[in-house]
Amino acid sequence: MSLIDTIIRPDVRELAVYHVPDATGFLKLDAMENPYTLPQSLRIELGARLADVAMNRYPVPSYTALRAKICERLGVPAGFDVVLGNGSDELIAMVSVACARPGAKVLAPVPGFVMYAMSAQLSGLEFIGVPLRADFSLDTAAMLEAIAIHRPAVTYLAYPNNPTGALFDADDMCRIIRAVGDTGVVIVDEAYQPFAQASFMPRLAEFPNLIVMRTVSKLGLAGIRLGYMAGASALLTQFDKVRPPYNINVLTQSAAEFVLDHTAILDAQAALLRVERGRLSAALAALRGVTVFPSDANFILVRIAPQEGAQEAAPGQAANDVFANLLARKILIKNVGKMHALLQNCLRITVSTPEENVMLLDALGAILASR
Ligand SMILES: *Cc1c(COP(=O)(O)O)cnc(C)c1O
Repeated sequence: MSLIDTIIRPDVRELAVYHVPDATGFLKLDAMENPYTLPQSLRIELGARLADVAMNRYPVPSYTALRAKICERLGVPAGFDVVLGNGSDELIAMVSVACARPGAKVLAPVPGFVMYAMSAQLSGLEFIGVPLRADFSLDTAAMLEAIAIHRPAVTYLAYPNNPTGALFDADDMCRIIRAVGDTGVVIVDEAYQPFAQASFMPRLAEFPNLIVMRTVSKLGLAGIRLGYMAGASALLTQFDKVRPPYNINVLTQSAAEFVLDHTAILDAQAALLRVERGRLSAALAALRGVTVFPSDANFILVRIAPQEGAQEAAPGQAANDVFANLLARKILIKNVGKMHALLQNCLRITVSTPEENVMLLDALGAILASR
């Protein structure tokens, strides 16, 4: 037996390496990043602020000031607190670790955010994926049935959902949260909240088992890695116990506190992206062979129709071809066709600046016209 076979868990050996393509030199429309940066004057001010950070010291692990500022500036209702994570990815991992009792299960609609299943598996929890309907709305009856059968400890609802883009029906979500009741938590993942203008955050008091999870990543700060989740303090206290004590580094802490004093800038950028989302959606829908799904996020899911009269060489070939052609033109989007059967021939495109969106549209138009 090799060293690897001796020491590494079989399920970890089976995993593929999480592959992030090198985007150097590409127009990067694959990861829902905000294309805008801070204005030059603020960047200089931030630089001065960071220069004064005591990098020789450990962070103070309570992060009291940053937590208070997040609560105040980002709409956490009075009486509720937040736990901080190194991105929401780490929060998802913390929830998995804390809830990994023998036989415990995690449930989420699929297709959905891959980290829910991945994190569950790594902590030894069984993941139950409940397929969405073909139009990517919640199959509420199937969700309620799965909840009754499996009694999941953790249920995730991404609001809006990734990679499909739309908000689920809020009444359906309430029925699901109530059905889970006092045998599980429901985590409403609002990573795209700045683009959705709908939130469960103001409704925390209605549901004792509700956690609202957010991140500053899609808002324009993906590089600093900061996520937070809000909920009843008794629950948060338990999750906080499995948090690595110094998980937010001092530079992230300082940068976040600074930017949170200038949220109007990020809000304005999100507003620009919402306008662009509308324009890009309409322009994509006008291309022959493209179906656009409604989006409340900063990305748009499209489906590429196979060429008229032509038989697809392989399932999903139409979108694979478009994706490869865009890559050849140095444009990187996300090919999600293999993620789930419902996503066949689907591509996910991040909404960017007017200039970059036009570059994407021109390239896509040319590719579709020449096939
Ligand atoms: C991008 C994304 C996240 C991850 O956010 P990070 O804070 O960057 O780890 C979480 N949930 C959903 C649904 C996302 O799309």
